[in-house]
Amino acid sequence: MSHAFYLDVDRCTGCFACAVACMDQNDLEVETESIAWRQVFPITLGEGPDARLRYISLACMHCEDAPCLMACPTGAIARETGTRVVKVRSEFCIGCHSCSIACPFGVPRFGKDGTMQKCDLCSVRLENGLDPACVRVCPTKALRQGDPNDLGLEVGRKAAERFAGP
Ligand code: SF4
Ligand code: SF4
Ligand code: SF4
Repeated sequence: MSHAFYLDVDRCTGCFACAVACMDQNDLEVETESIAWRQVFPITLGEGPDARLRYISLACMHCEDAPCLMACPTGAIARETGTRVVKVRSEFCIGCHSCSIACPFGVPRFGKDGTMQKCDLCSVRLENGLDPACVRVCPTKALRQGDPNDLGLEVGRKAAERFAGP
């Protein structure tokens, strides 16, 4: 089964629990936010009295048509056949930053070991039937993961709700 993330922006409170859980799961240093694999960004929608603050929790989206994968000169970024997760194979990575430049979101980070690093969708947890660490801790269930087809149905349902109004 392939996997993808789904974020319900209306439910995200910007609590950063997902970002902290990711750092803990992957032994990243909390004080070095520039190497965080998941980050939470505030965004303002609308203007004046209608302005609303929302948050976007962002990590690698394991794109179907992944520019990072195509940009890597050594084949260090590969897609797993079963899960479709886009992974860095650090043994082949020369730390050239090509993947990070090619990614529209600048997701791959330069790690302290001299190789590029990014979210692997907590593959080890998935293999053991567990949700990724970031998904597990989200207190509002804003962040979920699952089959892209099921998540697409959820996106469609949300859009229909918005269209129908309150
Ligand atoms: S690193 Fe960027 S381009 Fe590559 S799969 Fe993740 S989001 Fe897509
Ligand atoms: S799936 Fe795992 S590695 Fe990816 S952002 Fe969530 S906690 Fe981090
Ligand atoms: S844990 Fe959930 S609610 Fe908190 S910032 Fe992350 S996605 Fe948003």
